[in-house]
Amino acid sequence: MEMQSARSLAATPFYAEQADECALFAQAHAARLPLLIKGPTGCGKTRLVEHMAARLGRPLITVSCHDDLSAADLVGRHLISGGDTRWCDGPLTRAVREGAICYLDEVVEARKDTTVVLHPLADDRRMLPLERTGELIPAAPGFMLVISYNPGYQNLLKGLKPSTRQRFVALGLAYPAPEVERGIVAAESGCTAETAARLVHLAEALRRLTEQDLEESASTRLLVMAARLAVAGMPLQRAAEAAIVDALTDDPETVAALHEVLAAVL
Ligand code: ADP
Repeated sequence: MEMQSARSLAATPFYAEQADECALFAQAHAARLPLLIKGPTGCGKTRLVEHMAARLGRPLITVSCHDDLSAADLVGRHLISGGDTRWCDGPLTRAVREGAICYLDEVVEARKDTTVVLHPLADDRRMLPLERTGELIPAAPGFMLVISYNPGYQNLLKGLKPSTRQRFVALGLAYPAPEVERGIVAAESGCTAETAARLVHLAEALRRLTEQDLEESASTRLLVMAARLAVAGMPLQRAAEAAIVDALTDDPETVAALHEVLAAVL
């Protein structure tokens, strides 16, 4: 399936902590509780999960959810090959059997029928019912369900149902504090401390302007991209235009306003 990736346990990916989220993640894992990570796009949700999976020594199976993703895509389906029908586990089922961490990114995008399989896994039962085969699979030790979503204004309507939400320990992430974010931008791009500081300063100004009106804001991811362009030799102003300002919106008026901020602060 194209939308999933499995990562084995190599080096621990770099993650700069915002507060106590690493301890919270580890404690939720130890307590066999599922975790909901909410926060804007590009603020470090995925990196936190990758980092903690490596630290906890668990394989990680990630599924990027989209509006066509159904329960069958998660649990598996019968496949016909050469006249034979055989069952093929989906990513969630593999994670449950292997005791992996299963990360469902942007879970509110998925079809509503996915909640039917998530609920019994996310409460005390820790069971995955496979309706098609009649199997009821207990989650192997070490299994953890992690879901994320971006509570931007477009998601307010489709949000998570309270019955789903209440099964999860919630962790809210925002953009990192300036000193943390400067360290991230420098570490992820190899840029100088000065470049990192200028980009973070720009981000603060852009965020003040965009957070109200735009679904997306100048995320840490975009800052890292701009810094990488700068490291590759692009003038910083042009790099910030290409990676941050023009990436954020197509609306000409907003683009013009963002360009003004850029010219003023960078
Ligand atoms: P999200 O899943 O919230 O959309 P990601 O975790 O993919 O965001 O973060 C986007 C990029 O920003 C990462 O690839 C990484 O380069 C950088 N990043 C953001 N936050 C952190 C952090 N706390 N530590 C290290 N890198 C980070």
